[in-house]
This record gives sequence, structure tokens and C-alpha cells, in this order.
Amino acid sequence: MLPALGIVVLAIGVLNGAVSANSPTIGQRTPIVPEVPDPKMPMPSAANWKDPGYLKIVWIQSPNCDARKAGSPIDTIVVHSTAIDSLEKTTEVFQRTKENPVSSHFTIGKDGSIVQNVSTFERAWHAGVSKDAAGRPSVNHYSIGIELVNLDDGKDGYPEAQLQALCGIIAEMKRRFPIKQIVSHEFIAIPPGRKIDPANFPWGRLKYLGLPMYYGQNKN
Ligand SMILES: [Zn+2]
Repeated sequence: MLPALGIVVLAIGVLNGAVSANSPTIGQRTPIVPEVPDPKMPMPSAANWKDPGYLKIVWIQSPNCDARKAGSPIDTIVVHSTAIDSLEKTTEVFQRTKENPVSSHFTIGKDGSIVQNVSTFERAWHAGVSKDAAGRPSVNHYSIGIELVNLDDGKDGYPEAQLQALCGIIAEMKRRFPIKQIVSHEFIAIPPGRKIDPANFPWGRLKYLGLPMYYGQNKN
């Protein structure tokens, strides 16, 4: 818990007085979750790949994104699991522009390493055909997608370091945007049953964030 709280305290210090929760304006100092992509940071070669480490972030921009719909709120967190066994392979998939191009805003490795793939102010392509509990379609328009490296087989676990990184990101997103709910990909996917991720996720671990959570049986 302490490291996760650390990221929260740091972020408050960074953002204090710089932005309101609803403002897309970035403060002058560097946020703990960076929002200035480095376009010169290509996907490293396999030989040069290194997971950044617990609660550290590298930004490897995915080309699979576009502008959010004008006037769209950013109020939903979508939690995914990758069904891919590493941060590197997931990041590589998000570089592919042919055959089902996809991305998320963040991907979190098992050790709490974080790769940012898309600016939160842009739309990542993670939800697919989808609808939230209120019936709002196209969840990509108004959500932030966070992928957890996990085999999504219901047996693979979510280590504490990975959960702490997830909680830290969601906590910061709550300050940056009017986040009002956390949903599983499984819950929002249309048709029901199209997705099962994140399989066997410990949702109780996110309760302290104080947000309504929608997961499990898809009511769509
Ligand atoms: Zn998913």
C-alpha cells in the first residue's frame, strides 16, 4: 500500500494548483503520469527491451489512436487483461497497424512496470463494440483503457505490485478527469460473452477508490 500512496501524494504535489479535476490543462511541472509523448522513442528491439520497473513509466506511442469525440467526457476506467504474457509483447501488438489495430492508454506488467501507449486526452482503441451500464455506446469515446499483463485464463494471478500500479493510475485519473465508474471489458463488450477479461480479477482491491464498479455478468 505504501508505494501506491506514495504515487498519490506525489501526484497531488505535482498537480496542486495547476489543474482542476475537469481540466485537460497540464501543469508546468512533469506529472507522475507523463502527458508529453516522445515521438523519438520507438519500439525497442527485442535485445534492447527492458521493463521499466515498479511504478516507473515509459511512453512508447501506439499509432492506433485518434481524437476523442468533441465534447465527450472522460469518465470511465476500463480494466483489461492482455491474454499475452509480457509487457514487451503487448507493446509490440499495439504497434501493429494491420489486421485489427488495437491499443490502450496504459499497460501494466506483473512487477508494476508501466508503458503508456496513448495520451489520455486521445482515444485509444481497446473496448471495441461496447456499451456501459447506462446504455452509452462506444466506450472508447469516453474511457481510459488500462491493460494488465495476464494470461486471462482465470488462473493467472494479479501480483500486488501490479495492483498497486493500477490503483495509482486510477487515483491520478480521478484527479485529472471526472471519473465516475470502473468497468471490466467483459461487462461492456457487445455482444455479451464476446470478452471475458480481466478474468478472475480481485475487484475488492479497488473498492477503496470509492467508485462504482461494473463487472461480472453482462447485463447488456
Ligand atoms: Zn480487453
